[in-house]
Amino acid sequence: MNYKYVFIDLDDTLWDFHANAKSTLHEIYEEKKIGHHYENFDQYFNIYAKRNLELWELYGKGEITKDVLNFERFLYPLTQVGIDDPALAKQIGKEYLDLLPSRTALMPYAKELLDYLYPKYPLTIVSNGFIEVQYKKLHSCGLEHYFTHVVLSESAKALKPDKRIFEYALQLNNATAAETIMIGDSYEADIIGAQNAGIDQVFLDKNSDICTKKNPSTYRVKDLEELIKLL
Ligand SMILES: [Mg+2]
Repeated sequence: MNYKYVFIDLDDTLWDFHANAKSTLHEIYEEKKIGHHYENFDQYFNIYAKRNLELWELYGKGEITKDVLNFERFLYPLTQVGIDDPALAKQIGKEYLDLLPSRTALMPYAKELLDYLYPKYPLTIVSNGFIEVQYKKLHSCGLEHYFTHVVLSESAKALKPDKRIFEYALQLNNATAAETIMIGDSYEADIIGAQNAGIDQVFLDKNSDICTKKNPSTYRVKDLEELIKLL
């Protein structure tokens, strides 16, 4: 393939966000001793995860701030079981953001993929996360040195799928859309986003999502190992 620049998403593409978030919350759940309010940790986590997703959508539309997002997502699972304790929610939110970025679980073949791509292409992270959190993650798992640029929604002042975050990343690399490819696991954010900016895409389609079959991407792989063969 004739690409010169590779853009890549961080969460759940390279860094196993799901596993890391779950183990972090499990630790806090034990430490705060709130377990007797729930059937088990999975119940707590499912309530949290559903609300978290809704709040990220509102944040993406600019309807709530990141402080509200980080407070509400932890208050909600508490109020759902009758714990009316905003101070506790605040504390959980703080500990979560402190602990999460130090977790180091990566997606299968993430390291192998980066080792393979690094000598061939300038690599740029394009991610919607918070600045302090995303840099800490890269540092914790020793991935920093692979990337020429780290482009985060907070500094680009636009969230994927807004094409402006991709245009900002192109500008930093002095690259054109035609010579760039974007890799990501979110159809909505990464694939539609790159399409909005005229950039080819590799969809990391871990669950072989049937509903996105009709929505094409330039390439589609089921894991990062397959991607190594492609690039
Ligand atoms: Mg992702």
